[in-house]
Amino acid sequence: MALIPCPACSQRVSEQALACPSCGHPIAAAGEGKQTAVRVLGGVAGTYVSANALVQLVLGAVFCICVAAVIMTLIIVSG
Ligand SMILES: [Zn+2]
Repeated sequence: MALIPCPACSQRVSEQALACPSCGHPIAAAGEGKQTAVRVLGGVAGTYVSANALVQLVLGAVFCICVAAVIMTLIIVSG
């Protein structure tokens, strides 16, 4: 089976693959009967990536607030 470059990330992907294993982008060369499954898979992958990024964003914000609180406490205690 041939390898084709992923349209999204240019990673080499099997043309038989439903979606790119690297970024989850649906592979257009898949059979027509699989198009719906490809869209669902792509949507699920996209949702998962977005949710993951959102969690990291929230954790980052919480971490920044904690660091700021510690610094403010140190300033108050030392001052
Ligand atoms: Zn890709």
